[in-house]
Amino acid sequence: MPEMPELEILREGLSLRVLDRPIARVVVHQAASIKTFYPPIESLLGQRFTEVSRRGKFVILTMESGDNLVIHLMRSGWLTVRIPGQEPNRCDALNILFRDGSALVVLERGSKRKACVYLVRELAAVPFLNGVGVEPFDDGFTAERLFEYLQTERMQLKSFLIDQRFVAGLGNAYADEILFDCGLSPFKITTTLTFEETQRLQVSVRRILDRGIARLRSVVGEGILECEDHGFMTLHGRPGEACPRCGAPIAEIRYSDRSTHYCPECQSGGKVYADRRAGTCR
Ligand SMILES: [Zn+2]
Repeated sequence: MPEMPELEILREGLSLRVLDRPIARVVVHQAASIKTFYPPIESLLGQRFTEVSRRGKFVILTMESGDNLVIHLMRSGWLTVRIPGQEPNRCDALNILFRDGSALVVLERGSKRKACVYLVRELAAVPFLNGVGVEPFDDGFTAERLFEYLQTERMQLKSFLIDQRFVAGLGNAYADEILFDCGLSPFKITTTLTFEETQRLQVSVRRILDRGIARLRSVVGEGILECEDHGFMTLHGRPGEACPRCGAPIAEIRYSDRSTHYCPECQSGGKVYADRRAGTCR
């Protein structure tokens, strides 16, 4: 699932390629991905995009009319721009073709059609968008604010980090990297964090996202990001390998749709969590 660094790099790539070009044709390949009926998707014809922005995991393309095309890629969706002459493929969910022959493409690569596209007058009409929490690089993302958020609900720290109501844009992979960076357990209960731990967490959120964005930007160069890249990650995706900090094997908890990776020695006081609910130790 694309997270904030990938979406930010995609946003940059789209900004260079889709602005100020008149839209000549719109082809919906997967009708289920279009979640709104009014304004109709055909109203894009003749319009131009004036801005590409991002809020949490939503990519927002603003039209000259003021309407917004909002895209959430969910688990296996992606965005790209095709140069003139490139053929559509079977993963295409939506093609927005510009008069110059290039196309903005929403792809859905999963078997379940999950990417969501909304065309709305007001962003408030997009489900969950208004409830997205603080952006990690906004001034408002302070240790004090984070500490307040942590006190609002008793939950495991990793669940908190990927819950979009608090910190915007984090997902499974970056949350693992952030928690390793600050040495906190993914299973620690939010209300038990000290302010000092919260300060470390706040710093790590920014440091790890910054590192991810810089890495992706260097890989992509002038191009457009084609897929997720977790190859540079320290701990996520490396269960069983030696922790780069202490040498202990990196542990894994598997859930139905994701895995959590952590170092028991560096993050959970030596405890290796055994079951799926990660509530008991072995
Ligand atoms: Zn370690």
